[in-house]
Amino acid sequence: MAERIILGGGGHAHLSVLADWALRPLAGAQCRLVTSSRYTAYSGMLPGWLAGNYRADELLIDLAPLAVQAGAELVIADIVGLDADARTIDLSSGASLAFDLLSLGTGGQADVTRLSALGDKLLPVKPVDGFISKWSAFAEQAPRRGTAEVVVVGGGAAGVEMAFGIDAALRRCNVQARVSLVTHEAGFLAGHAEKARALVLAALARRGIATRYAHANGTPDGLILSDGTFLHADCVVAATGSRAQSWLAHSGLACSAQGFVQTRANLRSISHPFILAAGDVIERIDRQLERSGVHAVKAGPVLAANIRASLDDTSLDGSRDHTYSPRDRTLYLLAHGNRKAILSWGSFVTAGKWVWRLKDWIDRGFVQRYQSAATKMNAKGT
Ligand SMILES: Cc1cc2nc3c(=O)[nH]c(=O)nc-3n(C[C@H](O)[C@H](O)[C@H](O)COP(=O)(O)OP(=O)(O)OC[C@H]3O[C@@H](n4cnc5c(N)ncnc54)[C@H](O)[C@@H]3O)c2cc1C
Repeated sequence: MAERIILGGGGHAHLSVLADWALRPLAGAQCRLVTSSRYTAYSGMLPGWLAGNYRADELLIDLAPLAVQAGAELVIADIVGLDADARTIDLSSGASLAFDLLSLGTGGQADVTRLSALGDKLLPVKPVDGFISKWSAFAEQAPRRGTAEVVVVGGGAAGVEMAFGIDAALRRCNVQARVSLVTHEAGFLAGHAEKARALVLAALARRGIATRYAHANGTPDGLILSDGTFLHADCVVAATGSRAQSWLAHSGLACSAQGFVQTRANLRSISHPFILAAGDVIERIDRQLERSGVHAVKAGPVLAANIRASLDDTSLDGSRDHTYSPRDRTLYLLAHGNRKAILSWGSFVTAGKWVWRLKDWIDRGFVQRYQSAATKMNAKGT
């Protein structure tokens, strides 16, 4: 019987675990949610916030009432260490917590190794709440400067959407703006069909966003590209994909060469079955899965089921486990600024205003499901 259960991270992967606990409390267990911030941001709506389609509070989910409903103690701190054998985590507050069962959903960090020389000009997209406050400060100063040269580094779905969002944001600021997207060619919408890449390139060109295929290195004034070009920048937005958090390397958990937690389809660590993990923090050993919110969200119910299975199954042999086995193609809805979006689903690609309306409906629906649970708690005065 796992008595002390810790959820590490309150993001996409763990929201449905909290919802599951709220519906069916875990009898006899002491549950904790340890996470960096009380609010979790739905990253899929961040480009829409930049474009002026959403207020910041429309993409933020308050974890405090969700934790109360789930019967979990909310601990606001970063996990800075894990000893998988001793079953303890160390927190940024200096405290240590023991667990019988741990579920990791701490996501990844933006990989800014090559960009760090930019100093204050560097804005990593994650954590999203940090991005929102830093971008707000930059956008507030932009009209005083009169010009804004912004480069987005990273050609995945997030980088592309951020470039469109930033372009729309700067148009609203009424400044002379130059937005560029820098990505190495193989990383530009990797895994998407050629038609999706062509539609995005055409939309970037229509907006006057220059796309450059290169590797970028930061300097205090901008970027040096691998073709030798210097790109001046007032601000560089890093959407460079996920890097594993460093404390995992010393945890004793089996990790991939890049430092991500290795799991099977049942989302259990291959070395420590009492540690589960999902979302951007993992690397599956049975198949390659891209790090995306879609997979983090869809893995959530599997995590919830397998946490329950662990309560009754002390052998942890996985025989009662559910598995997360997504189909080969994943639906992506890529917004490009002016309430239009591109639907990319394997080889099926289409675009239009209706795609944006579908994305808006899905995204708002997801956030409101968790926000309305929070509102109900607040109305009860808890
Ligand atoms: C701008 C942008 C747009 C995106 N758009 C899409 C999209 O349209 N579709 C899509 O599928 N994916 C999208 N993604 C990717 C998606 O955001 C991630 O794949 C998803 O957030 C991963 O979910 P997660 O639960 O693993 O981590 P997260 O949702 O990042 O959650 C991590 C949680 O852990 C907490 N945390 C982090 N470190 C620690 C620590 N050390 N200790 C304790 N708590 C910690 C954080 O505060 C957070 O609560 C986008 C990403 C970005 C940046």
